[in-house]
Amino acid sequence: MPIDLKSLSYDELQETMKDLGEKAFRGKQLYEWMHVHLARSYEDMTNIPKSLKEKLMQQAEYTSLTVEDCQISAIDGTRKYLFALADGNMVESVLMHYKHGNSVCISSQVGCKMGCRFCASTLDGWLRNLTPGEMLDQIYAIQHDTGERVSNVVVMGTGEPMDNFDNIVKFIHMLSDEHGLNISQRNITVSTCGLVPRILQLADLNLSITLALSLHASNQEKRAALMPIANAFEIHEVLDACRTYFDKTGRRVSFEYSLVAGVNDSEEDARELSELIGDMNCHVNLIPVNPIKERDYVSSTHDAVLRFKNRLEKNGINVTIRREMGRDIDGACGQLRRKHLERKD
Ligand code: SF4
Repeated sequence: MPIDLKSLSYDELQETMKDLGEKAFRGKQLYEWMHVHLARSYEDMTNIPKSLKEKLMQQAEYTSLTVEDCQISAIDGTRKYLFALADGNMVESVLMHYKHGNSVCISSQVGCKMGCRFCASTLDGWLRNLTPGEMLDQIYAIQHDTGERVSNVVVMGTGEPMDNFDNIVKFIHMLSDEHGLNISQRNITVSTCGLVPRILQLADLNLSITLALSLHASNQEKRAALMPIANAFEIHEVLDACRTYFDKTGRRVSFEYSLVAGVNDSEEDARELSELIGDMNCHVNLIPVNPIKERDYVSSTHDAVLRFKNRLEKNGINVTIRREMGRDIDGACGQLRRKHLERKD
């Protein structure tokens, strides 16, 4: 296997240079080219000697994502990218502009095996994990394409990050490394559908990222109907893991709750949810669900969303309604890739 250059940490890259008979400082230079200057190929690296580039071409792999498609919202400038990976697989990422800065939502796997009923990303199953370098490169390619700095990163695109645990942890370290883009861990959010052992493992790592749990239901029965993972980890077990996460890291957990009309958006659901999480230091993000044509879920009405929010607030819970970004570019995660796959068939 060739060395995956873009996935090597700052220290590992210096060690690798020594193994290749080079001076360690070449590792520092290479790291800066890849993770600060966002070089797309060896050609950009002007102070790296030709002999080292040739050695690397033989023994290492240095790839960059290419933009396959990019849809830009006329309403808010949100950009939805379809990137081609070096092996021809496709992943989606989204750039959103907020008052507090630019936020990028990245994918962590090609496809997903979790089978959530409301999600288009899982319809074609799981193909493979993304490497740390491929996750970083989604951010790098967007910065490169727009010339704008990214300040927040959410790992909420295709894939279950906790199912790609070691790579996601390395990605977090590299993204927040002062020798790279140096994005504060406080500006990084990682979502999970609720893999309990991994949440507990993450809690022990002393990171200051935000954990977002895809909750989407107010009781076990409803959650299991929407999310097969709930059959493996019961709702109270998952919430206990989130409590442990807060106790160990001091970081408030976010709960993602997609509102589906007639499924989980009633007053009774809001009451039940309040009881479930009322004791926790948490934040609820309400998401009017994006309809996907393969399933018959319909987004809750605006009134139902507001009613749900008010009920939670009355019970003392912090709530925001996720602003719909890029409404006109057909938002549901996984759909751009699906469209591309359909075109190829
Ligand atoms: S919502 Fe996330 S975990 Fe669930 S199937 Fe979609 S990508 Fe996978």
